[in-house]
Amino acid sequence: MMTQGLPHRLLAAAVAALLVAAPLSAAEGCYQPVPLRPKDAELIRVSGELEDQFVRRGDVLTSGPALDLVRRVGARVAPAHPVDDYQRFRFGVIDSPVPNAFALPDGQVYVHSGLLAILENEAQLAGVLAHECMHVEGHHGILGARDARRKVGGMVALSIALGQWASLVNIALVHAIIGYTRDLEQEADLRAIDRVVEAGYDPREMPGVFALLDLDPEGESVRPKTATWSDHPLSEQRSQYTTQVLDGMAARLESLEKEGKLETGDAGFADAVLPLARRAARQYLAADRPRTALVLAQRLVEKHPDDPADQVLLGDAFRQLDARPAVPPDTEMTKRAKRAKQKERATKTASERAMQRLGAETGKAPLEQNRAHARAAYEEALRLQSVHPGALEGLARLSEAEGLLVEAGHYWSSWLESAPPGDPLTPTAVQHLKDITRELNAKQQVKP
Ligand SMILES: [Zn+2]
Repeated sequence: MMTQGLPHRLLAAAVAALLVAAPLSAAEGCYQPVPLRPKDAELIRVSGELEDQFVRRGDVLTSGPALDLVRRVGARVAPAHPVDDYQRFRFGVIDSPVPNAFALPDGQVYVHSGLLAILENEAQLAGVLAHECMHVEGHHGILGARDARRKVGGMVALSIALGQWASLVNIALVHAIIGYTRDLEQEADLRAIDRVVEAGYDPREMPGVFALLDLDPEGESVRPKTATWSDHPLSEQRSQYTTQVLDGMAARLESLEKEGKLETGDAGFADAVLPLARRAARQYLAADRPRTALVLAQRLVEKHPDDPADQVLLGDAFRQLDARPAVPPDTEMTKRAKRAKQKERATKTASERAMQRLGAETGKAPLEQNRAHARAAYEEALRLQSVHPGALEGLARLSEAEGLLVEAGHYWSSWLESAPPGDPLTPTAVQHLKDITRELNAKQQVKP
């Protein structure tokens, strides 16, 4: 029957509308004990199940210096005595390049590796974690879910038909992840300032987080409907009111600083998050977001100019930019242009989009520039480490793209000489070398 899929689609639309139209809109949090009602207990139970799921599915880091760092800073900003025994504060890292952080109502607080990768110091991390703790301490998830139940009561039965992510419990958890109302976000921000000071960190680092989140290197971020960490206009507002409150505390903060009671925690932070920043940059390259990867690579190179791996990352980002200007021009930054780009991304493959870019007249100048920057970065890597497989591969591919076959053959041969036995790239390198040799021979035979 043609209409068979329709009711399901309608239900899905209803739940989608619910997500947007009925945000968890408790006006303010409650920082006193909140005894659980049966449906609240369900929310806590599902939160606990998610924790196991994150581990089982490999969504979270299970060891390493970044996780240690997050746990250490988290322990400093978490409440010493949670008001309810179902709030057990614990801190984790989600392996995702998307800059975000969230907390579940039972006290699980997560920061994404992609947010860690762009933060500058411990004080900023303390601000992020304290903000998330406040969502838990203020019972924002539980109160919001109660509010949503009152509003939509009858829809629960409908939503059960839609499977796991459609129940109100899960809608409450989705909100915990994608953000609450502006009032609750502001409440969490303002209370987080005091907590950060109590923990001995400098809260004046907090507005800087919003500035970092305002970065839109790809030029594709269109204002979302909810309040995530990276909601662009909301970030601006958050930066403004946070700065205002900090200005009002200036005298107190200065005297605390003189007494040595406000730590920024730069030392060690960069080293702890370094592998995550590199990984996030690689993930952005794999997702064809080279501008974002470039920003991360440039920051890495700035911090470690003598590291050949970061130079290779920089080279790879420039190479993958191909005909795209490294910084999107104003014409790309209008809402309409951003939407068009999002649509292209959804409907065309990466190579289709590349073909289109490379065929356009406007792409010629940026292409030439990007290739020159890529070559310079790879050559710098080889200067730092005379045999570097990543740099050799990059130069081989770059030379091939530029039609410099002799050079490309030379770099592939060098790569093969330096590659460890059994490297997964070996068959590819061998094939490229064969193709290049065949093409060069054919060219020679044509000559008289
Ligand atoms: Zn929040």
